[in-house]
Amino acid sequence: MGRIPVFATYLPGREHGTYVGKGVTGERQILGFRVSGTKPLVVMVEESYQSAVQRWLSESRSLLGIGAALTLLTIGLTVAIWRGVRTRESARAEVESAQRRISQSERDLSVLMRSVQELIFRTDARGFITYVNAHWTVFTGEDVSQAVGRQIQDFVAPQSRGDVSRLLDRQSHETVRHCQALARFAGGRELMVQLAVVPLRLEGRLTGFAGSAVDVTERWTAQHQLQSQIAFQELLLETNPLPISVTDTQDRVVRVNRAWEEYKGHGRDGVLGQTIQSFLPLEEARAHASANSQLVRWGGRTFFEVQVLRGDGSRRDTRVEKAAIADEHGRVNGVLTILMDISEFRQAERATQEARDVAEEASRAKSEFVANMSHELRTPLQSILGFAELGLLRGASQPKLASMFESIHLAGQRMLNLVNDLLEVSRLESTVGTFHLERIDLRGVIRPVLRELEPLLTRSRLLLDVQLSDFPLMAKADPLRFEQVIRNVVANAIKFSPTGGKITLSGRLDSRGQAHIVIRDQGPGIPEAELEHIFEAFVQSTQTKDGSGGSGLGLAICRKIVEAMSGQIYARNVQGGGTAFHIVFPARGQTETEPVPLGPE
Ligand code: ADP
Repeated sequence: MGRIPVFATYLPGREHGTYVGKGVTGERQILGFRVSGTKPLVVMVEESYQSAVQRWLSESRSLLGIGAALTLLTIGLTVAIWRGVRTRESARAEVESAQRRISQSERDLSVLMRSVQELIFRTDARGFITYVNAHWTVFTGEDVSQAVGRQIQDFVAPQSRGDVSRLLDRQSHETVRHCQALARFAGGRELMVQLAVVPLRLEGRLTGFAGSAVDVTERWTAQHQLQSQIAFQELLLETNPLPISVTDTQDRVVRVNRAWEEYKGHGRDGVLGQTIQSFLPLEEARAHASANSQLVRWGGRTFFEVQVLRGDGSRRDTRVEKAAIADEHGRVNGVLTILMDISEFRQAERATQEARDVAEEASRAKSEFVANMSHELRTPLQSILGFAELGLLRGASQPKLASMFESIHLAGQRMLNLVNDLLEVSRLESTVGTFHLERIDLRGVIRPVLRELEPLLTRSRLLLDVQLSDFPLMAKADPLRFEQVIRNVVANAIKFSPTGGKITLSGRLDSRGQAHIVIRDQGPGIPEAELEHIFEAFVQSTQTKDGSGGSGLGLAICRKIVEAMSGQIYARNVQGGGTAFHIVFPARGQTETEPVPLGPE
C-alpha cells in the first residue's frame, strides 16, 4: 500500500486531493481521495488515465472545432479591422498629400498663367469667354474683366470669322484645332494671332473650349514681305530681257526665265532637272561646265564669250556672265548664268576696225602725198627765190624791175612758209610716235624762245611781262616740239598785238598740280564761235583774216604737238580785249619731279 502515492506522499498531510499517478491497480490513474477525520477511512476514486484522456478527447473534439473557428474568426476580424484602419489612414494621408499637391499645382498654375507669354482663354460651349489670363491686357490694352461674357468672334476681323467658326464647331470631333486669324481690338488695333483650341467634354457632353492665342504679327508681316519680295524677284527674272538660268552644283538646270526659253528654243519643262550636257551643243556645254566647276569650288563671278546656238539654229556671239549662288552658310549651291547677245556689237566693232584701217590707210596715203608734194615744191621754190634775189640785186638800178623781183621774192617766201607748214603737218601726222618725251622743267624751254623773239617785240614796241613760278614746272614733253608751240603762240600774240601793247606770259602749277601756261595779249580777240575752229588747219579768225599773212596751219600744228604730249591747248577771250592761249600739261607724281636750276631771264 505504501507504494501508492496517496499513502506515501499525501497522507496524513492532506485530507483530500487529486493527482495523476499510480493507482490501486498500479497503473497510471487519475485519482481522487478523501480521508475521514473520525474513522480510519480513506476513500479513493480512480479512473484509468488513458480512458479518461480518450473520453475527454472525444468529448472535446467538437468543442475544439468551434474554438478554432472562433479563433480564426477573431483573428480574421482583427486583421480586417487592422487593415481597414491602416487603409483609412493611408487614404487620409494620400488625400492630404493630394490636396497639398493640388494646391501647390494651383499656385504653380496661377504663376504660370500670369507669366505665360500667350493669351490663354476658356469659353463656354457657345464660344462666350469665361476666363482669360493676364496676357489679355497685353493684347487688347483692356482689363481682363472686360473680356468675360463676350464672344471670341467679337474680336475677329470679318475675313477670319469663317476659320474661327470652324475652330469652335460643336459638331466636330477634332481634338486640337488650329488656325491663324486677324484679331481686331478696341481702337482699331490689329494683330495676327495663331489660335489653338481644344474642346472640353464632360461625360461626352461639350462643356466649352480651352485655347491659346499667340501674337504672330511680326512673323506674319515678315512672311508677307518675304513673299512679296520673292514675287518681285520672280517678276524681275521673268520680265528680264536677258536669258537667265540657274544650275545646281551638278550642272542640273534649276530654273530658267522666259527670255532664256526664247533664246535657246527649249521650253522649261524639257530642261528643268536635266544636266546642261544633255541638251547643249558639246562646245557650249564644255565652256559652261568648266566655268561652273570653278565657281562651285571657289565662289565669286566670272565671264567669257562663247558662240551660242540659238533656238532658230543661228549661232550668236554671246557674253556669258556667271555668279556663284551661296546658301546662308556661304556654301555654293548653284550658279546663276546670264547670257548677253553681243553679235551686233562684235559686228559693229569689226566694221569700225575695218573703217579705221581704211581711214588710216587713206590718211597715211594723203600725208605721204602732201609730204612728197611739199618736198617736190620746195626745190623749184628755192630756185625761184634764188633767182628773185639775184634779179633784185641785178635790177637795183631799175626800180620797176627791182619791185617786180621783190614781189616775186615775197610771194615765193610766203609759198615756202606754206610748203614748210604743210610738210610739218604731214610729218606730225605720220611721226607722232617718234616724239622724244622726257621730264623737263618747262621754264627752261620758255626763256630761250622769248629771248629769240625779242627783236620782234622791240620792233612793235611791245612789253613782255613774264611771270614764271619759282617752283619747277615739270612735265613730260619733247623740248624741241614744246619750243615750237611757245614760239608759234607768242609769235601770234606779237603779230596780232597793237603797237605799244603788252603781252603777259605766266606759268604756274594749278590747284590740280597741272603745269599751266597762259599767253595773254591785247589784240583784237577771236569771235566766241571761232575759238575752237582756229585750231583746225587753214582756218583763220574772221577778225584778222586780212592782215595775218599766215597760212592758218600754225595752231593746228601746235594742237597736234600738245595733244601728242597728253596736254591741252585752247583759246579764251580776255575781258577788256585780247586773247589768252592756255597750254596745260597733266599733273605728274611728286616723286617724278626734279628741280631744275633757274636759267637767267
Ligand atoms: P596763222 O597765224 O598762220 O594764220 P595760226 O594757226 O597760227 O595761223 O592762227 C590761226 C588764226 O587764229 C590766225 O590767222 C588768227 O586769225 C587767229 N589767231 C591766232 N592767234 C591770235 C591772237 N593772238 N589774237 C587773235 N587772233 C589770233
